[in-house]
Amino acid sequence: MKILVAGAGHGGLTAAALLSKQGHDVTVYEKKKREEIGYDWEDRFTFALLEDLTGKKIPEDSWRYRGDCAFISPSYKSSVIINYTDENRQKIMQRKPLLNMLIEFASENNVRFEFENNVSLITEDDAVKGLSTAEGDVYADLVIDACGVLSPLRSSLPEKYLVEKNLSKGELFYVRRAYFNKTDSTLPDVPFEVYLCHDREPGLSWCCVNDDSVDILIGRTEPVDKDKFDSCVSSFREKHPFIGEEIIHGGIYGTIPVRRCLSVMIAPGYAAAGDSAFMTTPMNGMGIDLSLNAGRILAEEIIKAGNCSVDTLWDYNKRFIKEYGAETAKNEGLKNSLLKMAESGVDFLFDNEVIQSSDLSGAGSDTSFSSLMGKFIRGMRNPKYFFALLGGLTAGAKLMKTMKNIPDNYNLSEIAGWCEKVKTASGKVSIS
Ligand SMILES: Cc1cc2nc3c(=O)[nH]c(=O)nc-3n(C[C@H](O)[C@H](O)[C@H](O)COP(=O)(O)OP(=O)(O)OC[C@H]3O[C@@H](n4cnc5c(N)ncnc54)[C@H](O)[C@@H]3O)c2cc1C
Repeated sequence: MKILVAGAGHGGLTAAALLSKQGHDVTVYEKKKREEIGYDWEDRFTFALLEDLTGKKIPEDSWRYRGDCAFISPSYKSSVIINYTDENRQKIMQRKPLLNMLIEFASENNVRFEFENNVSLITEDDAVKGLSTAEGDVYADLVIDACGVLSPLRSSLPEKYLVEKNLSKGELFYVRRAYFNKTDSTLPDVPFEVYLCHDREPGLSWCCVNDDSVDILIGRTEPVDKDKFDSCVSSFREKHPFIGEEIIHGGIYGTIPVRRCLSVMIAPGYAAAGDSAFMTTPMNGMGIDLSLNAGRILAEEIIKAGNCSVDTLWDYNKRFIKEYGAETAKNEGLKNSLLKMAESGVDFLFDNEVIQSSDLSGAGSDTSFSSLMGKFIRGMRNPKYFFALLGGLTAGAKLMKTMKNIPDNYNLSEIAGWCEKVKTASGKVSIS
């Protein structure tokens, strides 16, 4: 089969390598130059996943452990500190070597690459037929969309396939991240500080001290321009004089989807994988693991079926949602309830220890009766915020259940009904 991958995204590269390994004819079209792919920063993801997929060890000089973390409340009065253990300490890897590993994995399996090639979708008779490339139109059995969250391919799909094209307010997170030089001053006790509703705005900022630099990220639900970034960095600098004036690397603007994944991520001749299908965890915007798994599942389903029919692609859609998408969608409820209650509510939850270290460390919350009772009693000091939080958690659980109820067959009218139910379940948790 002839398969075209648009964009050198993580899921697209994974699917490309695995499909080409089985003898399919695969080409990746990427609009950037080879050396410009990836970002000049470090990311957290599951290292074993990348190593298992590629069969290679992550190079020692491309990763490090991140230090302990403090979540700071909007008023700066309370913080929740996470002291990681040897078992759960976070590992972070530079993005460029990460993508290099995937590109090498694909190249070793005979995937062809066309860099500096900005592609668009060819649709004929309401079906996707291929890509319009710098060298002309190329027809294929399948186009895999790995163009990221603002994919122009997704936007040009025929409406009848029910693929959502746009994000609503609060579903796209705008960030700028830069590494500043570090000056000689007293360093904070906890190296990685995450500020929730920083500057009393929806979003978060972080300040992370490394050996030779200070990594600063400013993220908001509205675009972060240079003035906004500079003013946030200045306010950090007042408290943290060790932040220098010079950006030594990074400094790029980015966007992250922070919502449930697409309910329908396929159409005849088309499959989206990664951010193009909004595959991130809504609370923290992490999407690398989900993209790698999506690429793997897509390739496995095509290899198993021996074709790229719409039924095979629907099997991919179903499997992704059942194995990963619905579970991460649950998180949308919590994210939206925190966004909705704004900074005073978040202050309350921190000040009254309703949110604690075990809730934020990823190590699993303490669900013992006495711990939950303690949270309940403290939370009921302000029922409005407490019930908003509980409402978000409950609605998130309902959304997960609704998504898992995905129709078995690719029947557009049945799928339309299910999409409406998902939208309603998500509407209950969405911000106004
Ligand atoms: C600041 C920041 C920090 C993050 N940190 C983490 C983290 O720590 N852990 C984590 O798991 N996730 C993190 N994420 C999210 C993560 O980057 C994404 O979820 C992940 O990269 C999956 O995106 P993708 O590979 O599908 O798309 P992208 O990484 O967006 O790649 C899309 C590719 O498609 C190309 N492209 C776009 N349009 C075209 C076109 N028309 N023709 C050809 N090529 C095209 C682009 O040039 C790009 O190379 C972070 C994101 C940001 C912005």
